[in-house]
Amino acid sequence: MHDDDHHHDHHHDNRYTDMQARVRALETVLTEKGLIDPAAIDAIVENYETKIGPRNGARVVARAWSDPEFAEWLRRDATAAIASLGYTGRQGEHMRAVFNAEDTHNLVVCTLCSCYPWSVLGLPPVWYKAPAYRSRAVIDPRAVLAEFGVTLPEGKKIRVWDSTAELRYLVVPERPEGTDGWSEAQLADLVSRDAMIGTGLVALPEATQ
Ligand code: FE
Repeated sequence: MHDDDHHHDHHHDNRYTDMQARVRALETVLTEKGLIDPAAIDAIVENYETKIGPRNGARVVARAWSDPEFAEWLRRDATAAIASLGYTGRQGEHMRAVFNAEDTHNLVVCTLCSCYPWSVLGLPPVWYKAPAYRSRAVIDPRAVLAEFGVTLPEGKKIRVWDSTAELRYLVVPERPEGTDGWSEAQLADLVSRDAMIGTGLVALPEATQ
C-alpha cells in the first residue's frame, strides 16, 4: 500500500550528501594524479549495483522458495529471517518482505528520497533515485512497469510500497514453473535485482524453456 503517513527520516540523506561530496573530491584528485580511471570506477559501481549487491537478496528469495518455514518467517519477521542469513542493515532499519502472488504484484519506491534495502540489494540504481521513477511509480505503476518491459495481466493488482529510512522492502517474486528440484544456488541465479524491486519478473533462461 502507498502510505502517506509514514515518518520519513531524512537525516541520513544529509550524511550521504556529505559522503558523496568527499567521494567526488577524492575521485577527482586520484583521477588528476592519474591513479585511477573513472571508467574503471564506473564499471565497479555497475557491478555492485547489478551483480554483487543483489546476490544477498537473491539468496533470501531462493531460500524462501525452497523452504516454506523460512518463507513463513520472512513473511512474519523479515528483519530476523534475513539477519539469520547474515545480512543486516547498517542503520538498524527494519525489513519487510512483500510476496508477489497470482493476483498481486508488488513494486517498491522511495517517493521522498532514495531509501533502499542496502543489506540485501547493495547500491540503488540511478533510476531508483530519479524524480521520474519516484513520482510515477505511485501515480501510474502499470505504465512504469511497461517501460521496464513488464506487462502484467489486466486483473493483477499492483501494490506500491513507499520505503523509509526505518522500513525497507524486499519483493519476493513468484517462483517460475519448471524449477522443481532446483538447488538454492540455481534458483538464486534466476533472481535479478529488478525482480526484487518489483520492476522485473523472474523467468527461466530461454535455453532451458
Ligand atoms: Fe528515502
